[in-house]
Amino acid sequence: MNSSVFQQRILAWFDQQGRKDLPWQQDITPYRVWLSEIMLQQTQVATVIPYFNAFVENFPTLECLAQAPIDEVLYLWSGLGYYARARNLHKTAQIIAERRRFPDTLDELVALPGIGVSTAGAILSIAFGKSHPILDGNVKRVLSRFKAVSGWPGNSEVNRELWAISAQLTPVDRVADYTQAMMDLGATICTRSKPLCENCPLENHCLARITRTVFLLPTPKPAKLLPVKQLVLLLLGNNLNQILLEKRPPAGIWGGLWSLPEFDSIESALNWCLTKNLRIVDSQALATRRHTFSHYHLDYTPVIIQTNTPINSVMEINQTVWYKAEQIKTLGLAAPVKLLLQQYTCENEND
Ligand code: SF4
Repeated sequence: MNSSVFQQRILAWFDQQGRKDLPWQQDITPYRVWLSEIMLQQTQVATVIPYFNAFVENFPTLECLAQAPIDEVLYLWSGLGYYARARNLHKTAQIIAERRRFPDTLDELVALPGIGVSTAGAILSIAFGKSHPILDGNVKRVLSRFKAVSGWPGNSEVNRELWAISAQLTPVDRVADYTQAMMDLGATICTRSKPLCENCPLENHCLARITRTVFLLPTPKPAKLLPVKQLVLLLLGNNLNQILLEKRPPAGIWGGLWSLPEFDSIESALNWCLTKNLRIVDSQALATRRHTFSHYHLDYTPVIIQTNTPINSVMEINQTVWYKAEQIKTLGLAAPVKLLLQQYTCENEND
């Protein structure tokens, strides 16, 4: 499907089914378009409508908004969220009011607080009829699917590709209707979880539809690569079949739970035993295991050290106690520590 057929289909769909009664589609002025575009960032149409109406009733012109105290602007914005938008709106209104002219070029618009390239494109096309592409969340979804563009759109290369597609498809004529149509199509037909492909004007040529990848596109944000922390957990056993446990500080991971003494290396664990004058009768390092927290992976290496030194020698350490295997079952333990202790005590019972 070439650009002109694409545009024809989108515009024909808009003529029949596009939304034309939204408050900012009446009495179109740059001020009203700009205000609506800022409100629609990260917010759905139905939520925006009453806020838009209240704003234009209280601030019918950009000059009224510029002269209003910021507290009044924030009050009217209350509940819409992302309050930086309201502060930027007020700042931008003051800048434009001072210049006495609403900017009508991309460079001028993106230099203003709170206006990015896509918002600027929407203002230029809808308010001034100038052909500029947009790439808001809805349009990203339609174009990623229509052209089966894989890769997370937040990635700069994917983003560049989507902008190039959007620019190539944007018409010169009827650009205001086209821009509104693309936003409507994404919001009402090519929705994120329940796209109505059978009602879509692009259905027969949509690559995601043809390749059955609609639900895979746009590619979601990749899971963050978590950093890896490493430590050694000491399983110190004595000849009374007891294990040394220490209580963790109340804050931080496993806060307040009982755990095993931690070291940064096997050597540090052995040295610590030697500084406590413990006679080591046996030692063995087990395979490293991984436990994943929300913000990092913990790779821990359990080291079993057996001592026959009388147990009081390590009792002076704060929050450190020897426990018998039976007692351990009733303690608050972190899951990986509990598993380790179960395995260790089982092996000892089988010895
Ligand atoms: Fe979106 Fe389906 Fe239309 Fe493709 S056919 S653009 S997936 S609604």
